Amino acid sequence: MEGTIFDIKHFAIHDGPGIRQTVFLKGCPLNCWWCHNPESHDINPEKFIRVNKLDGKEFEKELTVGYNISVDELFKNISGDKIFFEESDGGVTFSGGEPLMQTEFLFEIIKKCKQNGIHTCVDTTGFASEKSIKKIAEVADLFLFDIKLIDNELHQKYTGVPIDEILRNLKWLDENNKNVILRFPVIPEITNTKKNLSEIKSFIKSLKNINQIDLLPYHNISNGKYERFKKFNKMKGVKPSSDDDMLQLKSEFESIGFKVGIGG
Ligand code: SF4
Repeated sequence: MEGTIFDIKHFAIHDGPGIRQTVFLKGCPLNCWWCHNPESHDINPEKFIRVNKLDGKEFEKELTVGYNISVDELFKNISGDKIFFEESDGGVTFSGGEPLMQTEFLFEIIKKCKQNGIHTCVDTTGFASEKSIKKIAEVADLFLFDIKLIDNELHQKYTGVPIDEILRNLKWLDENNKNVILRFPVIPEITNTKKNLSEIKSFIKSLKNINQIDLLPYHNISNGKYERFKKFNKMKGVKPSSDDDMLQLKSEFESIGFKVGIGG
């Protein structure tokens, strides 16, 4: 069986416990205004015109983002880092895009990792069918689950999809005692508003088993990527939150009994 990925990051330390290999699967049904990986959206390998500048002149180069890979080939690559996973209680994280868009491939590669004693983590938006989330929950050790906006209209506006399915899947994981760490992207004026914070806190307080959240500060390092790939950047000019803002948010989530990390 084959899947489509667009990157592999070795020695990642922010995508789950220990030292990890992060595999980025291609395809995402969302279209978040603040997306750092606009080249991940299409599930198929895509051609882009990349613009490079040299001595004030612009040079265009066509490149392909994404490639197909078999479960066996990917596993061979993952297991090459096994010694680092063992030394650090790490493992492999499947991110994207939205990895649940390739549920069958994801299931097979996680199953293979599990059979070989490698810890697996799925970094998800939660926007997937009930069938997909349940299937992956049978094999994955941990979910990193995004929670962005609670208000359905705002969720639809800023991510392109409704929130209901996401909350339903999150509640199911919670009720079935699956390991989940929430991730909250702190986006100035979009997710980091008084109203949204209050709604998110109230929702996550109602969860029975999940008690950990990572706050992911917005950064604008992908501005150049939007220019290079000639994509429209809706966040141009938006400044990241200050360290003081992040610490203030951390203590707000701690005050409702959550263990809070900054930066994942
Ligand atoms: S879920 Fe992630 S990959 Fe998908 S659009 Fe949003 S930020 Fe980008």
